[in-house]
Amino acid sequence: MKIIAIGRNYAEHARELNNPIPTDPVIFLKPDTALLKDNKPFYYPEFSNEIHHEIEVVLKISKEGKHISEKFAKGYYEEIGLGVDFTARDIQQKHKEKGLPWELAKAFDNSAPVSLFIPKTDYKNIYDLNFHLDVNEHTVQVGQTSNLLFSFEFIIAYVSKFFTLKKGDLIFTGTPQGVGSVNIGDRLAGYLENEKLLDFEIR
Ligand code: MG
Repeated sequence: MKIIAIGRNYAEHARELNNPIPTDPVIFLKPDTALLKDNKPFYYPEFSNEIHHEIEVVLKISKEGKHISEKFAKGYYEEIGLGVDFTARDIQQKHKEKGLPWELAKAFDNSAPVSLFIPKTDYKNIYDLNFHLDVNEHTVQVGQTSNLLFSFEFIIAYVSKFFTLKKGDLIFTGTPQGVGSVNIGDRLAGYLENEKLLDFEIR
């Protein structure tokens, strides 16, 4: 399986990092070795001094597809969950300045903790979902899917022009404003519509 992630999909987050509002989605990948499941602890890597949290809604692809039209894209994901797109911001900043790719900042081991997945039919409207991240019981990021710049269906249509989507692939759909550093000893809790789906420690 592969993990596809969208950068800058909430305008306020693009602004907080002094990035332009994109006209096309910013796409990057994480390998399957980035996955961290079952609320296992995240071990702070030695190569970075600035690991940032990015709480995101994650789509789980339910069937194979290529060149999926936006109109039919809703048939390609049945479940959604939450994930954290851990980012080595110090490495990313250096690479951005040099115009280099982001893999070392984004795709390292365990950089993609994900929750369990919930049928999207459990929610009345997936474009009216509140989600938030607490660090040590303080809310640091609050998101609302009505603020997405690119809809879930648009993202599926767009990425499937380039990559065949396979059952079990995950799409991280972008983070709202409020990204910040994590530290050893922190406890991260992610909520989707006030249901706690993520709850793990930084070690
Ligand atoms: Mg992200």
